[in-house]
Amino acid sequence: MRAKRARLEISKDKGLRVVIPKGFRLTEVPRLIEAKSSWVLRKLAFIESETELQTRQRALKEGDLIPYWGGDLTLMTRVQHGTEARVEQEGNVLRIVTSSAISTVLNGVLKKWYVCRAAEVIPQCVDIWAQKLGCSYNKVYIRDQKTRWGSCSSRKNLSLNWRLILMPPKIVDYIIVHELTHLEMPNHSRAFWKLMEERCPEYLEYRTWLRENGRHLLLW
Ligand SMILES: [Zn+2]
Repeated sequence: MRAKRARLEISKDKGLRVVIPKGFRLTEVPRLIEAKSSWVLRKLAFIESETELQTRQRALKEGDLIPYWGGDLTLMTRVQHGTEARVEQEGNVLRIVTSSAISTVLNGVLKKWYVCRAAEVIPQCVDIWAQKLGCSYNKVYIRDQKTRWGSCSSRKNLSLNWRLILMPPKIVDYIIVHELTHLEMPNHSRAFWKLMEERCPEYLEYRTWLRENGRHLLLW
């Protein structure tokens, strides 16, 4: 869309953007920013506080829906004094039994459970796909990565993010196939994507899903 008037835009991803109409003199831009400086500062402060909120641990409470393998589980809590924390899954209910229901404790227990589940489920998926595709790998590591879903090493080890357990299985399949394909082609060349297309015909859809939902899942 063509801009009719000059305007400022601020977003977390792109920072400050100045949108100007055709013919707008660039020498006018500093004056434009200057005139809006209080708005710019206010907006930046807001983004900063929101980011801080997101990176802080979430305040878990009874009844919360928590993501798991493409569905939602309802969180229940039970306080039992002097007990060691444990997690019980019954159908769609996930019950955390702890000696304290404060949020940091619940967060810690839940994360441990997620990591355990991931360590059980994900390597099995890798094994199934490796057999299907006829590729060999060495080891699977489940990791707590903040910026990536998976990676592989020249020693044929796969590292996968425990947060894969929060995703629908078909997205996990895509990530696993992607990393296994890297064992044969350690780049993102056209040949790589061609092979991906053969192995996972809907991969573009899954990449879009990851772009849209990934950031949100990384907050767990
Ligand atoms: Zn890749």
